[in-house]
Amino acid sequence: KTGSNNHEEIVVIEGDGIGREVVPAAVEVLDAVGDFEFVAADAGDAVKAETGEALPQATYDAVADADATLFGAAGETAADVILPLRTAVGSFVNVRPARAYPGVEAVQPETDLVFLRENTEGVYAGHEDRLSEDLSTLTRVVTTSAAERLAAFACEFVADRGSDGFQVVHKANVMRETDGRFRDAVVDVADANGVDTEEVLMDAFATRVCLDPTQFDVVVCPNLAGDVLSDLAAGLVGGLGLLPSANIGPDNALFEPVHGTAPDIAGEGVANPSAAILSAAMLLDHLGYGAAADAVRDAVESVLSSGPRTPDLGGDARTDAVTDAVIDRLA
Ligand code: ATP
Ligand code: MG
Repeated sequence: KTGSNNHEEIVVIEGDGIGREVVPAAVEVLDAVGDFEFVAADAGDAVKAETGEALPQATYDAVADADATLFGAAGETAADVILPLRTAVGSFVNVRPARAYPGVEAVQPETDLVFLRENTEGVYAGHEDRLSEDLSTLTRVVTTSAAERLAAFACEFVADRGSDGFQVVHKANVMRETDGRFRDAVVDVADANGVDTEEVLMDAFATRVCLDPTQFDVVVCPNLAGDVLSDLAAGLVGGLGLLPSANIGPDNALFEPVHGTAPDIAGEGVANPSAAILSAAMLLDHLGYGAAADAVRDAVESVLSSGPRTPDLGGDARTDAVTDAVIDRLA
């Protein structure tokens, strides 16, 4: 894609709570670096209270048709909103970078890794059964095709990131059939593409990432393992207000901060907009505006290191002041 005449349509869903504060901040940043058409859509508790529906069909359709979607957060209705929206974009991978920033206190200040989490199956796609008073079961779904699609994405991802290869997390020594299938499919695709892989058992990963996260770079995980381990890594970098994520589909994607509605601070204008702005940077990457994405990340990093900072990071700045500072520092 070229940098001119870009009129991609970006659906913007603020949702509830601080989504209404951090998403407009991210839109201001996108507006400062590109020429996009923003289409507002509703989802979450507020629209449910008004209309009875947490996810109106018009929103689902808009997301399915858009070039990309920026989503904030939904409260009580989160599962009714985000799961169908991931389906609307056909998302097969959840990209979750976890990196520490100079100037922000972190358990492991050297952390800089990215989780590529399988986003459609595993135990999340399985069904649960209650077989008796004493016994419940869960069926886990693993397909070679989903693992291959994830691995193909991972191969491109490491090339773009300038990494040599990726780690693949699994527990195939115990779950030989399901994790074995996942591992084999992922490693086969990497081999075919000349990409190095290192296998790491998921329990060992948990210990190793706490002790020394610098051993890891790009980490490919089954669904549940990716969910748990990426939250663990989030704990190492400090600050829910910093973590972006992307749900990528074949020709569509949805970007959202990892945090939720933060009801304790919602409406006060002090939410940290960094996670939402960094999610917007991932959106720019996805649309092919890598230079703009880098500029946004550099500006956020500069503001994190020198301030102004929001109260969650020990400062006293408001959301607007941090957003203005980021826009001022765009190269
Ligand atoms: P939800 O159910 O919507 O996830 P929650 O109560 O779990 O709501 P989170 O949004 O997950 O709240 O946030 C957890 C904690 O982290 C809260 O104390 C919240 O204030 C804080 N937090 C999360 N995101 C931010 C942010 N962007 N800026 C400042 N603080 C944040
Ligand atoms: Mg939460």
